[in-house]
Amino acid sequence: MKNGVVIVGAGHAGVQAAASLRDDGYDRPVILVGDENELPYHKPPLSKTFIKDAEARPQPLRGEAFYTGSAIDFRPGIRIDRIDAGRRSVEISGGGTLAFDHLILATGSRPRTLSLPGSDLSGVLSLRSLADARLIRELSAQSDEVVILGGGFIGLEIAATLRAASRTVTVVEAVDRLLGRAVAPVVASHVRQRLEGTGVRILTGTSIARLEGEIGHVAAAITSSGERLPARMVIVGIGAVPNVELAQAAGLSIANGIRADHQMRTSVPEILAIGDAASYRHWFTGGDVRLESVQNATDQARLAARTITGHADGYSAVPWFWSDIGDMKLQMVGLTAGSDSHVVLGDLPDNKFSIYHYAGDRLLGIESVNRPGDHMLGRKMLGAGFSPTPGIVATGPDGLKAALAAFQEEEPVRAAG
Ligand SMILES: Cc1cc2nc3c(=O)[nH]c(=O)nc-3n(C[C@H](O)[C@H](O)[C@H](O)COP(=O)(O)OP(=O)(O)OC[C@H]3O[C@@H](n4cnc5c(N)ncnc54)[C@H](O)[C@@H]3O)c2cc1C
Repeated sequence: MKNGVVIVGAGHAGVQAAASLRDDGYDRPVILVGDENELPYHKPPLSKTFIKDAEARPQPLRGEAFYTGSAIDFRPGIRIDRIDAGRRSVEISGGGTLAFDHLILATGSRPRTLSLPGSDLSGVLSLRSLADARLIRELSAQSDEVVILGGGFIGLEIAATLRAASRTVTVVEAVDRLLGRAVAPVVASHVRQRLEGTGVRILTGTSIARLEGEIGHVAAAITSSGERLPARMVIVGIGAVPNVELAQAAGLSIANGIRADHQMRTSVPEILAIGDAASYRHWFTGGDVRLESVQNATDQARLAARTITGHADGYSAVPWFWSDIGDMKLQMVGLTAGSDSHVVLGDLPDNKFSIYHYAGDRLLGIESVNRPGDHMLGRKMLGAGFSPTPGIVATGPDGLKAALAAFQEEEPVRAAG
């Protein structure tokens, strides 16, 4: 046992795993390999601010000194091509191998691609990496008209950001509402109304039949009903697919992601999978999930480090997520699939409200718009295993805080949020 840990992927999950290994006292080599040629950076600002501001700089996850100071052998611009699970080694693209005692796969996900006539024209882009964001920023400076395919979080964040930079923005979504099933219909229509209020055009229930170009560059998107939407830039935001190929070729179990257990071990116990690439049974719902969020990536990374250092308990973090769309800070806590009723706190016209979702009498989660206090309290409630009745929710934050305190006096705290 001297080879240490190799981490493949230097994004949110990979960097946190390296840091947590050191925090947990792991003293063998830690090699962090990433195929981007960058100091690892925060992804969320890319769609919210970076693409509209020519002066904006990437925000590093950790300063450069962190890697040397923590004896983390960070190797940027290197791709791992193959895992030899039997020999416990990985092959570096272009030659060379790295041996490991444990391997952490933090390979993330990539944008789902579009297969339409014209989707290979220049100016048809998607946003995942800093390199993508730089391209979008550059092209946006020369493009008044932008069409965004997909009305999910990333598509709508980009729409709001580019609209704030005075671009003419049209969002085209194939189904009849925004944000898929990620939020309640009332939240989705609120987001739509406010975005439209800023001048973003939104077409739901509409698909794109083809993209037209001029001299190799996109010029328009043509809807299935024949409308021509002029565009110098088309951004495709139709979801992400997990990067599982490396794991799959090594024979690891795959099911909508690299299959991991409650300690993030794959079907080969020395190999762990975390972040956007991993699927697992979530303690909160009992269902199989693959989540794409910073919270999921970093909490799983912390657990993977504990698994390797022998202190693992099991995954018990409360799931949460945020998205900034124009003047709306959306915050979600819990997992609300299966909700059969809800209670609203606050005011939609004020652009400040929260939806408390229930299945029967169990609180499944809370979606908040510009009510960060509700979100933070929700994280505490769900972390403590406290499910307030709709009647208590209706008493507002003070009533909820008092009820949570009374609950915690009686019940042991289940887990920290
Ligand atoms: C534009 C944008 C905005 C977002 N906004 C939010 C937000 O507001 N809130 C939120 O909670 N989440 C947000 N997310 C999602 C969040 O960023 C992801 O869930 C998170 O980055 C997942 O971390 P990860 O480490 O699993 O994957 P990543 O951060 O994608 O890192 C994976 C890394 O592995 C590298 N890699 C893959 N294969 C190999 C290989 N074979 N060899 C070497 N390297 C490899 C990839 O290039 C990448 O650098 C956003 C994502 C994007 C793209």
